[in-house]
Amino acid sequence: MKILLASSEIHPYSKTGGLADMVGALAKTLAHTGNQVGVVTPLYRGIQEKFPGITKLDWNLDLPLGSRRVQGEIWTLQVAPGLTIYFVHQPEFFQRVGLYQENGVDYADNAGRFIFFSKTVAHLARYLPWQPEVVHTNDWQTALVPLLIQHAKLAEGWGNIPGTCFTIHNLAYQGVFPATQYGLTNLPYDYFNPTGVEFYQQMNCLKAGIAYSDIITTVSPRYAREITTPEFGCGLDDLLRKRQSSLFGVLNGVDYEEWNTMKNPYLKLPYSVEDLSGKVEDKLELQRELGLPVDAKIPLFGSITRLADQKGLDIQLGALAEMLSTNMQFALLGSGSPTYEKAYRELVRRYPTKAVAKIGFDQGLSHRIEAGSDFYLMPSRFEPCGLNQMYSLRYGTIPIVRITGGLDDTVVDITEDADTANGIKFAEYSARALAKSMRKALVLYEEPELLTHYRENAMTADFSWERVVQEYLSLYQSLRRS
Ligand code: ADP
Repeated sequence: MKILLASSEIHPYSKTGGLADMVGALAKTLAHTGNQVGVVTPLYRGIQEKFPGITKLDWNLDLPLGSRRVQGEIWTLQVAPGLTIYFVHQPEFFQRVGLYQENGVDYADNAGRFIFFSKTVAHLARYLPWQPEVVHTNDWQTALVPLLIQHAKLAEGWGNIPGTCFTIHNLAYQGVFPATQYGLTNLPYDYFNPTGVEFYQQMNCLKAGIAYSDIITTVSPRYAREITTPEFGCGLDDLLRKRQSSLFGVLNGVDYEEWNTMKNPYLKLPYSVEDLSGKVEDKLELQRELGLPVDAKIPLFGSITRLADQKGLDIQLGALAEMLSTNMQFALLGSGSPTYEKAYRELVRRYPTKAVAKIGFDQGLSHRIEAGSDFYLMPSRFEPCGLNQMYSLRYGTIPIVRITGGLDDTVVDITEDADTANGIKFAEYSARALAKSMRKALVLYEEPELLTHYRENAMTADFSWERVVQEYLSLYQSLRRS
């Protein structure tokens, strides 16, 4: 099939979270299985320096954005046969320090930046010579694209429009802006009503994706059910219920070429399910790197996360305050909310020989923490899919997760089926419940044979993209028929 993907971030060019990993792996695997794939993404600062093969296309953009016109360029990279990245070069919008924000503050012109980006996606969908059959957009930044395409059919006679698929990676980020910003879309006000783009007198980009896309997907089956309830629906559950027959939960996969323990440039020693000795060495190496006491016998708990409320950091801090008095270590890698950064620094001051908090974004260290830890903490308040628990499984690091969204879909508790059990799960959102699970982990740590059994189950669990891509392809195919 011919598929155009659009995303505000894609690994390895830009990344703030799981969206980048998912789109990067989906694009790669779709192309690998014989489909023609294009990906539209902004050309952020630093990408050209890292990927000098990117070349300018003879294609100049000149699109309306409210009362002005904005120019831009398309740069491309042919990554593999059948896989082309189209970078949108608009220096004023995209050559900045951050993708969406700086120092924790969103850019004031995010509406304009991503409306322009969405218009470029619709423009490419229409005029690319290879004529995509499906346009697959992701999250609020590209959620207006299905509407822009539909409107172009009605108002501009775009005859054979592609089918549209919109994926919600996180319903909590909706791209809500003052109603005045709607003018930047240059769309008629017919769409600005409660069944369309309007949300309590404001413009809601994500809502447009839900209302106007042919099909909607989200990144795990459980989250697909959860978001149709008032508790998880972030104010959009009513609309999601209305569109339930077009809403599908497709569990994300893992890019095992990237996330593996055998051929990994970030790890000192490789290891496998047959021979776990390298994992012990990687743990000692991690303890050395982080300045913790180097001792294989001390259980090490890891956490790699955006420092945001969603991730359950308040209960994690509470549980750690209690548990760090036992014989254990904790390593955090994260960035985001200054309040949490401060709280973790405080925790480290209290337990300087037991806890480490690395504030920042560090790809290599994230692999080393996954590999070197014994247990991985993911006590999210909600979690659309979550990738780190799946990375932990492959790295033989037992995940401790709260029963929500994709965490529930991917981890099997040690009290469940012994042949597949690979993690520790808890339900109640409280520091006490998490601490209790950590205590279970400490008991498990004293039972090396059992621990190895669960590690083996974890490492052989299979979340490969090949299976996921088949699910997306059958959804795309249903669009072609409709
Ligand atoms: P979310 O998309 O909500 O942030 P996911 O678990 O789906 O959560 O994906 C997070 C991705 O971002 C993972 O690949 C994780 O390793 C990575 N990540 C998050 N924070 C950091 C960090 N500080 N340094 C390196 N990688 C990080």
